[in-house]
Amino acid sequence: MTDLLPYVAGVPLVDHHCHGLVRTDLDRTGFEELMTEADTVSPLGTTLFDSLLGHAIRRWCAPVLDLPAHTTPDDYLARRAELGATEVNRRFLATTGTTDFLVDGGFRPELLTDANELGTLAGARAHDIVRLELLAENVLRAGTTAAGFAADCAEALAKHTTAVGCKSIAAYRVGLRLAGARPDDAEVHAAAGRWLSDVDRSGAVRLADPVLHRFLVWLAVEHRLPVQFHVGYGDADVNLAECDPLLLTDLLRATAPSGVPILLLHNYPFHRNAGYLAQVFPHVFVDVGLATHNAGFRGGALIAEALEVTPFGKFLFSSDAFALAEHYHLGTLLFRRGLSDFLRTAIEADTMTSTDAAHVTDLIGHANARRAYRLDS
Ligand SMILES: [Zn+2]
Repeated sequence: MTDLLPYVAGVPLVDHHCHGLVRTDLDRTGFEELMTEADTVSPLGTTLFDSLLGHAIRRWCAPVLDLPAHTTPDDYLARRAELGATEVNRRFLATTGTTDFLVDGGFRPELLTDANELGTLAGARAHDIVRLELLAENVLRAGTTAAGFAADCAEALAKHTTAVGCKSIAAYRVGLRLAGARPDDAEVHAAAGRWLSDVDRSGAVRLADPVLHRFLVWLAVEHRLPVQFHVGYGDADVNLAECDPLLLTDLLRATAPSGVPILLLHNYPFHRNAGYLAQVFPHVFVDVGLATHNAGFRGGALIAEALEVTPFGKFLFSSDAFALAEHYHLGTLLFRRGLSDFLRTAIEADTMTSTDAAHVTDLIGHANARRAYRLDS
């Protein structure tokens, strides 16, 4: 790795998909359980520090906590505990150079800071993203009927007056093999009726119905709210074989005339497929958040692969930081390093000038997100 190009080092970032941080101190198991997408540390493996992410933490995060680079995991975690969660969170957030966080607060909200707390800790703007499935589940908990479900969801969404977008986790519930067209009222009515009787029978409120996920996406589109999709890489709750973004092709084709942005999150290991979709559909945007920091020093290779065919006006930065402030630091730092290496290679190949590279940096760092989410309006 070479030094960062100055305009990449200094570009202010819009982090278009991220989460809150743990407020409490963590022991070693607690820390490792939040490091990667694994829920537990395998008794058949070794520590999760034996990974590119673990080495990135020891290399890049240790100095932020006043430790030498490559310090041992034990020393790292001891220093982290000594400083305390609030100071650790503050230090790592201060390194990011992020002006705006678009926060998905829908996963484990009891554990994490909300958007406002995160923005205050970072001294930056924070914006809410509405998780569509949670919205529907709250509508059901509040009491609804099969016939009234669609209108109740519309009313609930309209109350989110400051939200800048929505997110679908259909990938986690039914996979991405979704039909295109908006389901008609009779289909939504019937599907809501099936869900209500399932909940009556099982007592568990968990939306997992392809018609209803698709209805919620269309509801967001009708409200002119950009829709993020979880795609690809995620925890063991996801069936990765059903998470290739190409499975969304019918839905992307059907929503294209609306002009409402669809943003494909993470995408690994389907990031090249996602890049293709961003090229051919005018309303599709992509990122490689989450994979960037999990891949450690190889994060730059993923960024370069994703940018092979993605138009530079359709690629966004996200950290997908969750719970550990290290994710914010690494997501940002490895993104800047990866983008800088990519652009430097392009300049050396004489396919780009420095002026071009600075323009691409502005697009990817913040301008694309500002345009897609209308953050300046
Ligand atoms: Zn996320």
